[in-house]
Amino acid sequence: MADLTKEQANQELAKIRPQLNEWRDAYYTKDAPVVEDNVYDKLYNQLLALEQQYPDLVTSDSPSQQVGDVTLPDFNKVTHDIPMLSMGDVFSEGELAEFNDRIEKNVGHEVDYNVELKIDGLSLSLIYENGILVQGSTRGNGTIGENVTENVKTIKDIPQKLSRPLSFEVRGECFMSKKEFLRLNQERENEGQQVFANPRNAAAGSLRQLDPKVTASRKLDTFMYTIVTFDDLNVSTQHEALETLKELGFNVNPTAEVTTGLKGVQEFIERYGEIRDDLDYGIDGVVLKVDDLAIQRDLGNTVKVPRWEIAYKFPPEQAESVVHDIEWTI
Ligand code: NAD
Repeated sequence: MADLTKEQANQELAKIRPQLNEWRDAYYTKDAPVVEDNVYDKLYNQLLALEQQYPDLVTSDSPSQQVGDVTLPDFNKVTHDIPMLSMGDVFSEGELAEFNDRIEKNVGHEVDYNVELKIDGLSLSLIYENGILVQGSTRGNGTIGENVTENVKTIKDIPQKLSRPLSFEVRGECFMSKKEFLRLNQERENEGQQVFANPRNAAAGSLRQLDPKVTASRKLDTFMYTIVTFDDLNVSTQHEALETLKELGFNVNPTAEVTTGLKGVQEFIERYGEIRDDLDYGIDGVVLKVDDLAIQRDLGNTVKVPRWEIAYKFPPEQAESVVHDIEWTI
């Protein structure tokens, strides 16, 4: 978009924000997106570019300042003492290098990254007390989530009792396999019900059910990737956190790798970009996380995203290429 005057930018933002909010409502509240993610991302990035150019036009209710999901009124709410944030994203090798430069400049030296697949599901928080699963919740708006404990208890790969009496919170992704998505949509079509747009929305629609029996009738899976509270655990890096989660019986995605600087990251991206169709779960990119947890803590978060991680988003798949793209230029 050509450089706009402040007045023009303001007018443009007044069109972009309601449009994004409408799409967010369909995606996060109704689990039924009306446009493909790349259409959303394109407009969202226009919003970011305008706000970056004119920072005083940023409003606290702008989509750039909000973690997406909302909480459905019928669910009991939980408060996340440590907010569940969104994640910054980049779309090119150049932007990835800029992210790495920013990190190195802040830290003062090259860092190790834990490189993980970005699973296309919805964030899940699990709380254990003395080794017993006592709460499962969605991200919601980052601070207030939905209590889905009974639904979570129907997910077979989530341990309800740990071998050690730990009291802690873990987080990860709840997702639906491509196979289960096809089965569920076939069943819904046979019953004359509306089908889900994609596995991510099917997973969200299945976890956010008032009747746990409905959740239980659909096979959901998880990959856990974050230990939020480390009391009693000897963990100082993200890759040790993944190892510990595995030892404790959580399902952990097996593909993560540690790399120094950006060495090998492009190769990882290319490798999984090529075989993503062959995986039985959806991925929409690759996540780079500074491996050292102490450095993560030092880098901290913005209001919406951690500074120590970034998602590299894959280009949209062929089948996803968009018919209803919208041009936002004035
Ligand atoms: P996001 O989904 O892009 O990234 C953050 C999330 O990634 C985390 O909350 C976590 O749940 C997940 N994640 C998956 N694998 C992970 C891993 N290995 N480590 C850490 N986290 C991992 O961000 P968001 O703010 O939740 O949503 C924005 C996304 O939603 C964009 O991709 C956008 O395209 C899409 N969206 C689409 C529409 C639409 O209308 N199609 C509307 C709104 C948002």
